[in-house]
Amino acid sequence: MSMTARGSEGLAAEMLARLFENTRPLVDALFAQVNDGVTVQAQDLSLCFANPAAARILGAASPEELLGPGGVAVFERYEILDAAGQPMSPSLLPGRQVIAGRSGTELVLRLRDRRTGEERWSRVSAAPVRDTRGQVVYAVNVFQDVTEVMRTQERLSLLAEAGELLSASLDLESTLAATARLLVPRLADWCAIHLAGDATPTRQVASVHMDPAKVELARRLAELYPTDPQATGGIHHVLRTGVPELTSDITDAMLVAVARDAEHLRMLRELGLRSLMVVPLNARGRTLGTLTVATAESLRRLGPEELRVVEELARRASLAVDNARLYAEARRAQARHEVALEAGRMGSWEWDIAAQRVNWAPTLERIHGIPEGSFGGTFEDYQRDMHPEDRERVLTSIQRVVAEFQPEYHVQYRVILPDGRVRWVEAHGRLTLDEHGRPSRLTGVCTDITERLALEEDARRLVREQAARAEAERARQHTTELLESLRQAQAELAQRAQELARSNADLEQFAYVASHDLQEPLRMVASYVQLLSRRYKGKLDEDADAFIRYAVDGATRMQALINDLLAFSRVGTRGKELVPVPLERSMERALTHLRLALEESGAEVKVEPLPWVKGDATQLTQLLQNLVGNAMKFRGEKTPRIRVSATHEGDTVTVAVEDNGIGIEPQYYERIFAIFQRLHSKEEYPGTGIGLSICKKIVERHGGRIWVESTPGRGSTFRFTLGAAEGPERA
Ligand code: ADP
Repeated sequence: MSMTARGSEGLAAEMLARLFENTRPLVDALFAQVNDGVTVQAQDLSLCFANPAAARILGAASPEELLGPGGVAVFERYEILDAAGQPMSPSLLPGRQVIAGRSGTELVLRLRDRRTGEERWSRVSAAPVRDTRGQVVYAVNVFQDVTEVMRTQERLSLLAEAGELLSASLDLESTLAATARLLVPRLADWCAIHLAGDATPTRQVASVHMDPAKVELARRLAELYPTDPQATGGIHHVLRTGVPELTSDITDAMLVAVARDAEHLRMLRELGLRSLMVVPLNARGRTLGTLTVATAESLRRLGPEELRVVEELARRASLAVDNARLYAEARRAQARHEVALEAGRMGSWEWDIAAQRVNWAPTLERIHGIPEGSFGGTFEDYQRDMHPEDRERVLTSIQRVVAEFQPEYHVQYRVILPDGRVRWVEAHGRLTLDEHGRPSRLTGVCTDITERLALEEDARRLVREQAARAEAERARQHTTELLESLRQAQAELAQRAQELARSNADLEQFAYVASHDLQEPLRMVASYVQLLSRRYKGKLDEDADAFIRYAVDGATRMQALINDLLAFSRVGTRGKELVPVPLERSMERALTHLRLALEESGAEVKVEPLPWVKGDATQLTQLLQNLVGNAMKFRGEKTPRIRVSATHEGDTVTVAVEDNGIGIEPQYYERIFAIFQRLHSKEEYPGTGIGLSICKKIVERHGGRIWVESTPGRGSTFRFTLGAAEGPERA
């Protein structure tokens, strides 16, 4: 660049300056009306023009104060911060950029008053004023105070962010901490949130400050000098009243007034609070906590405008706190519900009838043994696990509930688990109707009752077993009692039998001794009476003859009686060993003994072939003799016909003695075998009533039995049994 050029350049500037001077009154008048600040900045950065709005915005008393190299240094008074609040180099200001030859930019910056800490927002732009050669000679700065706009915008974005934050999360504490962080440093230097606790009156859930050292200081302060819950200001007061508190200017006098001692005052001063507000967190008529916001080192002042923002924020935070609490409560209730369902092996379900969807709780999936979240949700999915035998029944009962609008649903069925196990499930449900009264959903719980049923079955089995045991015990007792009484009866019987045997033996012995000993004197009496009869019959009077006849008769009968008694008693006491004997021989002897009587009666006796038997030959002779004798004696008008025969069956021989005599009435069949039992007088048929009892005794001694069958007037058949015996081979 040449000297000449520089000279002309200076001239041009000179001229421009002069022009500017000359037009100054006009320009002043013009720009005095403008609300935007306008300055003209020379190349040495000093201002050569400023309008009143510029003076106002830059904090000067008049435009003149700002002009010339000695004008008020704006940057000594203000700290320049960028839009985000960070310190900014003055070289980046649009005017300086323009003077440096770069294109003018527009930017928003903050001017923070170094004395008061007050911040103002400005939108600044600059345009160059060039000379004829296009060189920049001046920069024209235009700036607007956009503090209100920016604040509003910032508050709106703050609230928007807070709203987003608060609605995004239901984790109360982290949400509140994030909210506190939102306010610092945009609105204030401090933010703390306290919640009203159940146990302790308050609990600090968030505390934010840019400087961790300050957080620590505040913590120590709260620890050493806890706030009085009954204080008439501060957190506790706001918690009690629900009314916000704002102290825009905290003076040292205030600190002195609240300080409890010198150390307290020192710490309060160190904390250096400038403005403080405590805002309640109110929800549903309750104060849940407080939001405390304060400024300190930034020297910013919190006023009604900030209070409104913080109140709005608090309102949103309160909703979030309330929601989080409700959610936590709901979660707890749901958890309790789930735990209860789980504990009871229950799972809830819901069938949306219109949408044809079935919802299952995870617990129900567990009951069905399928992984959580794997239930398909259709009615077919629901039926799939059902036992085929139960399906129809369950479907019918569901259909009935829906078709007949039954309010309650209750059914039990089996479920087949994926591993093949079968479990019993009990479903209870309730039908809900829509606004048109149509069934809309069926809601209920399923309970796994497998164990319960097993327990019930066990209990029933136990009861059955107990009943059976009791029954068995009763039967056993009964049997024992029966056995006992049987044993007693047996013992009694045995004793009776023994007594009877003893008395029988005694009787036999007595009968034998008596009859034997009576025989001798009786024989003497009989002989002498007979002698009397022979010698004196017809020589005395008739009475004497009759008396003698009676005596002879009596003696004869007594002899017969004694003989029979003797024979009866001899059966037991004089019996011989039982050996094989030919019954025919005994029969022959019996007939020999009876020969006279048989001849006299003219009886016909037919004896069939008789076998060998085990017996006492003498006694068998007597037995047959008594029976044939009776058959002959108890004859009627007809000639007696007697038949003796025998049948052989196995080891037993049955002998029959048959007659055509007077016969016996059936009621006497038993009685006639007892001793001294007779059916006729001795005038009709002579006898002692001992014959058949001797027969019975003989047969029983031989191990057999004796009985009679008869047709009165036609005849009788006496039968007795004996043991069969092998006879020797006949030659
Ligand atoms: P007794 O012959 O001495 O009378 P028994 O003991 O032999 O005594 O007989 C008892 C009674 O049984 C007889 O009195 C008679 O009434 C009846 N009785 C016995 N044998 C016959 C018979 N073959 N036919 C009809 N009655 C009979």
